[in-house]
Amino acid sequence: MSVELADSISALRTRLAPLRREGKIIGLVPTMGALHAGHIELIRRARHESDCIVVSIFVNPIQFDRQDDFERYPRPVADDMQVCDQQGVDVVFAPSAGEMYPRAQRSFVEVEALTDHLCGKFRPGHFRGVATVVAKLFNIVQPDCAYFGEKDAQQLAVIRRMVADLNMPLTIVGVPTVREPDGLAVSSRNAHLNLEQRRSATVLYQALTAAREQIVRGEREAAVVKQQAQNVLAQQPEVRVEYFEVVDSDEIQPVERIERLVRIAGAVWVGTTRLIDNVLVDV
Ligand code: AMP
Repeated sequence: MSVELADSISALRTRLAPLRREGKIIGLVPTMGALHAGHIELIRRARHESDCIVVSIFVNPIQFDRQDDFERYPRPVADDMQVCDQQGVDVVFAPSAGEMYPRAQRSFVEVEALTDHLCGKFRPGHFRGVATVVAKLFNIVQPDCAYFGEKDAQQLAVIRRMVADLNMPLTIVGVPTVREPDGLAVSSRNAHLNLEQRRSATVLYQALTAAREQIVRGEREAAVVKQQAQNVLAQQPEVRVEYFEVVDSDEIQPVERIERLVRIAGAVWVGTTRLIDNVLVDV
C-alpha cells in the first residue's frame, strides 16, 4: 500500500510540511469514512487539481444530534484504506476523538441564518458541529483546496460562507451528487435499508425531479411545486417526509416565488434511516 496513515496531528503536519515548502498544492477531502462512489468522485476531482491529496476520516461526535446514529455509523477502516490506496490518495488522516478533542471544546463556529431551515431546523447543533470540525481540519491540514459534495448542499453553503466570512485562505470546490442507476443518491446510510426500503427510497429523487420538471415547465409558485412533490412522496406510505422545501441557493431561505436559482431539498425517513437529497434549478 502506498497510501500513508496519519492518526495524529503532529504526524500529519510533519508529513505535509516539506510539500508545502516546495509549493505543492494540497487538496483535502473531509469524510466520515465508509467510503463509496460519492467520496471517490471527490477524490477524483481533487486528483485533477492537487499534487497531494489528504482524505480525512473522522466520525465527528459533536455533529450528531442522535447518539444511536453516531454509534451505528459504519467504520470499515481497512476497506477505506484500500479505497484510498486504489484512488491514489497520498495521506489518510484518521484521528481519534481524543486527538481532535483532547479536552472539552469551548470554541465553536456558528454560521447564522443559513442553518435556520432544512437540516438545520431538524438537527439542532448539527451545523455548529460540522463548521467547527471543518474549521479545525482546515487549520490542521492547511489545504489549498477542499472538496465537498452537493448532496449535502446546505453543508456546502455553510462551509462556503464560513470560509468567506472568516477569510480562510483556501478554495472550496463543490462536486455534483453521485447517484445509483435509479436516482437514489449514494450514501453510507443506504446500507441500513432492507430490499423493500431500498426500493421505496427512490421516491425522494422522483419527487425532486417532478418538482424540477414543474419549474422548468413554468410553475413559479413554490407551494404548488411542493404540493405536487408531496403527492409523489405519498405514493410510498412507508416513507415519512421530514421536510421538502424550495430555498434560494446561497442563503438557504425558503422562497414563495421561484424567480432565481433555487435548490429543492428534501429529507425523509425510511424506517429508522434518514435520507437527504436535493437538486438545483435555474429558471
Ligand atoms: P460524509 O462521509 O457522508 O460526511 O461525506 C463526505 C463528503 O462526501 C461530503 O462532502 C459529502 O457531501 C460527500 N458526498 C457524500 N455522498 C455523496 C454523493 N452521493 N455524491 C457526491 N458527494 C457525496
